[in-house]
Amino acid sequence: MAAAYGNFINGKWITKGSRGTFENRSPADPSDVIGIFPESGHEEIEAAVRAAAEALPAWSRTPAPRRGEILRRVGDLLSKHKDEIAKLATREMGKVLAETRGDVQEGIDCAYYYAGEGRRMFGQTVPTELPNKFGMSIRRPIGVAGLITPWNFPLAIPTWKSFPALICGNTLVLKPAEDSPATAVKLMEIFEEAGVPKGVVNLVHGDGPNTGAALVKHEKIGVISFTGSSETGREIARLTGGSLKRCSLELGGKNAQIVMEDADLDLAIEGALWGAFGTTGQRCTATSRLIVHKKVASELTGRLVEQAKKLKLGNGLEESTQVGPLVNKTQRERVAGYCMVGQEEDGAKLLLGGKAPGGKLSKGYFFEPTVFAGVTPKMRIFQEEIFGPVIGIVEVKSFEEAIAALNDSRYGLSSSIYTKDVNRAFKAIEQIEAGITYINGPTIGAEVHLPFGGVKDTGNGHREAGITGLDIFSEWKAVYVDYSGKLQKAQIDTHPDD
Ligand code: NAP
Repeated sequence: MAAAYGNFINGKWITKGSRGTFENRSPADPSDVIGIFPESGHEEIEAAVRAAAEALPAWSRTPAPRRGEILRRVGDLLSKHKDEIAKLATREMGKVLAETRGDVQEGIDCAYYYAGEGRRMFGQTVPTELPNKFGMSIRRPIGVAGLITPWNFPLAIPTWKSFPALICGNTLVLKPAEDSPATAVKLMEIFEEAGVPKGVVNLVHGDGPNTGAALVKHEKIGVISFTGSSETGREIARLTGGSLKRCSLELGGKNAQIVMEDADLDLAIEGALWGAFGTTGQRCTATSRLIVHKKVASELTGRLVEQAKKLKLGNGLEESTQVGPLVNKTQRERVAGYCMVGQEEDGAKLLLGGKAPGGKLSKGYFFEPTVFAGVTPKMRIFQEEIFGPVIGIVEVKSFEEAIAALNDSRYGLSSSIYTKDVNRAFKAIEQIEAGITYINGPTIGAEVHLPFGGVKDTGNGHREAGITGLDIFSEWKAVYVDYSGKLQKAQIDTHPDD
């Protein structure tokens, strides 16, 4: 019988859900049931938010360096359990082991980074305009944070949100995706073992439209941090806007890699393969448009197709597998649907893939690496996020045309250009409309100490990771200390123009 997992509320594991239970199955082999999880509703959200609110005063008064020591222990425990968590994550969401190990490593890096922030969290000290007066700014926690996460980075994304929230002195309630609840359970177990006090971190399983929406609407939640699709993000922004709640949104992408005629083609092809087919194309930063100078387009296309053909599909738990399954049946139908759309678009040519593989892989949600050529900006496969192993090749005649094509998108998360011309590289850094630009590297591979997020429909202006991650989870307070012993009036006393 499959294991029963629980919600984690006020330091207790509770397997019962007010809306029943749901099963979590492996996308590589849907007969493999990973566990049964509670389907939660208002009741559980209410209990979790109450626990977090009660734990807030003590946690927010715990000195930040002490909070940092707990986060350091969380990092140590993630290291200790890295392989076990990676295997569980691969089993529940499909990506290959090397990548889920990377996912856990990102969590470890994030823990040590924010543990260090406990001893920094710099504010400013500034001169004031009056004598015998001191001015400074400090960060204060917001309160109870509501975190809603997708399944594609089942460990890293919850850590990107929970670690900065905790170091700033907030308490939290996490609702992970129903496609990756077991990895979130592991994270909570590690918080518990590391000594996070009860009520400070809470986990509530359930679906987005019910459990997630109840969290977003709860009046005691001070900040929502969400990663997922632009459509859901828009709905969350509408709800939080109405209640003036802070809300940070990390949303979709339609990332492009430019390859200029002077590029190192071996490197550019290797980058495109990794960017397009890593995580089976299910990264918000995945490369889904390859914008290539026409002088090298034919050679690059031929070689890319040859190498993509050789990628080994299979269960991500087998070390030799290079491409795992898509996360679920709906996602496979969506990707297959886009491949049909692509084939019907005037001028686009399917060169590879476009379908689910047969044979023993047909029981899982696998999909063949897919390459389209002849793609142009007016096509749907150029404009819409597919979130699968599909790359469209766009031919251009100049650097200017390449940049214009890259920017011709409602999204603006990641981007890349391969060129040996340093002047072009710097012009690209200036002109590309995206939150992340790589020079001679693929569109994937963010590190935890630099800002992460995008422009346009990719978000609402916040940046996760690094010090910008602290901005999501803290309020700035300006502090004035007057040690003159008399009433001093800013802008009025001692103004030089008077
Ligand atoms: P999604 O459908 O928007 O779901 C994301 C999370 O939101 C899940 O936990 C989901 O719960 C929950 N949710 C769904 N509807 C909700 C609602 N009305 N209220 C509150 N919560 C709700 O996204 P997805 O399809 O799982 O993930 C893929 C998308 O995420 C892609 O667009 C990808 O680009 C984006 N993404 C962005 C980043 C980034 O940092 N920019 C990173 C990773 C992924 P359930 O799934 O359990 O129903």
